[in-house]
Amino acid sequence: MATAVKRREMFIGGEWVAGSGSEGQAIINPATGETIAEVPKGTAADVDRAVKAARKGYVEWFETTPRERSELLLKLAEAVNADGEELANLESANVGKPRALFLSDELPPCVDHLRFFAGAGRLLEGRASGEYMRGYTSMIRREPIGVVGSIAPWNYPLMMAIWKIAPALAAGNCVVLKPSEWTPLTALRLAELAADILPAGVFNVITGDGEPVGAGIVRHPGVDMVSLTGDVATGKEVAKAASQTLKRVHLELGGKAPVVVFDDADLEAVNTWVKVAGFFNSGQDCTAATRVIAGPRIYDNLLSSLTKSIQSVKVGNPLEAGIEMGPMVAKEQLERVEGFVDRARDRGAKVLVGGAPIPGRGYFYQPSLVTDVKQDSEIVQKEVFGPVITVQRFKDDNEAIAWANDVNYGLAASVWTRDIGRAMNAARRLQFGTVWINTHIPLVSEMPHGGYRQSGYGKDLSMYSLEEYTNIKHVMTAIE
Ligand code: NAD
Repeated sequence: MATAVKRREMFIGGEWVAGSGSEGQAIINPATGETIAEVPKGTAADVDRAVKAARKGYVEWFETTPRERSELLLKLAEAVNADGEELANLESANVGKPRALFLSDELPPCVDHLRFFAGAGRLLEGRASGEYMRGYTSMIRREPIGVVGSIAPWNYPLMMAIWKIAPALAAGNCVVLKPSEWTPLTALRLAELAADILPAGVFNVITGDGEPVGAGIVRHPGVDMVSLTGDVATGKEVAKAASQTLKRVHLELGGKAPVVVFDDADLEAVNTWVKVAGFFNSGQDCTAATRVIAGPRIYDNLLSSLTKSIQSVKVGNPLEAGIEMGPMVAKEQLERVEGFVDRARDRGAKVLVGGAPIPGRGYFYQPSLVTDVKQDSEIVQKEVFGPVITVQRFKDDNEAIAWANDVNYGLAASVWTRDIGRAMNAARRLQFGTVWINTHIPLVSEMPHGGYRQSGYGKDLSMYSLEEYTNIKHVMTAIE
């Protein structure tokens, strides 16, 4: 099969290049197990070439005005929008996403994020300028950092690439993007679209494994900043390695979002949103609604309604209309999810719905509901990253908030109640970068997304993200 498959190339310095190594990486369709493409396994020499191309591109890019960069990013947004069908084909084949859901729920925000940063780049500001010492004027300049290494995960390959490259480019940086070794196809397509829009070297895409390509980017002295979206363990490696050159690090890591349901919550709404936010993208989402923590009186009703709605999730061929959930991204991920649920069951948890892989082709796992779990159990404490939710019953508000906060992650949480004071107090006490009230999962370009604690530091989206990709310079001039 693999020999019939087209080998793609990397995009470096405005050109398509084969890569310096001879090894290729097979790209698999997780719905079928078939090889659909092959990409080069990048090497340290490829990293070096891409970084040098980006440094060269930076000489000209540094001279561009915010408006010039904005116009190019708007063109890229239009190109992405116009290419939606092809991007949907690639993302669906490579990640197993239901194609229709990609078009309705992922493509529009991808385009909007590009448009947002195209405009936002024109609004960067320094906080003050003035005479702070007699005879001198001071001003603040916001400047690009230089060459940014962007390292992306496999769960939303196109969206995560755009979250990283759009603010970096808008702020005037050049980028070397490394997509996940499992899911490089839409990043390469993005490069095809950008090839006619962005000057050579401004945006480069290199394929390959975490080591040597991802780690090679982090080590490279020509890279000024690294932005990673990935696992907590990878974040720690990147932060450690980056300390050798003291480059700036931006980390968007894992999550284990609690869904705190007080007894006065709207049961229907909780049920609807947990089904969406727990099983969208097969639960492979850093903000997935995975840990339901329910009040003593609502618990039984919630469990029976969740049981029905989780049984109703339509799993199957991502190309078929009406499918809500496709496969896990890879065999390894399927085995990871299976391991979590099996170990929980062995330790006394009850699996009310699902709890096993779906036999047949591809890497499918049943949407699953697990109860009778202890707060310190692995399935409550660790990110499963699959279609599995746990439900716990709390005694009172204090226990609910304590359990919600009692994980190493701090990316996102939701709270459900009709009492505004209770909701706002919970939002205050929840130690997470995003807290939703009576909803779970919506994101907007204008608002920041990022973690507390081991979910990382640095924000994606919003002006805060743009600012992360800038240096602050104080310029002081004698005026007398
Ligand atoms: P991962 O950490 O395994 O890989 C992420 C990227 O890092 C890949 O491109 C990989 O090749 C690269 N990499 C691996 N080792 C490296 C190293 N030593 N140095 C540099 N790069 C290295 O993560 P994944 O499995 O691809 O993605 C899933 C994880 O991403 C989950 O934990 C999920 O929660 C997280 N995620 C977080 C967000 C967020 O916004 N916080 C969004 C999406 C996904």
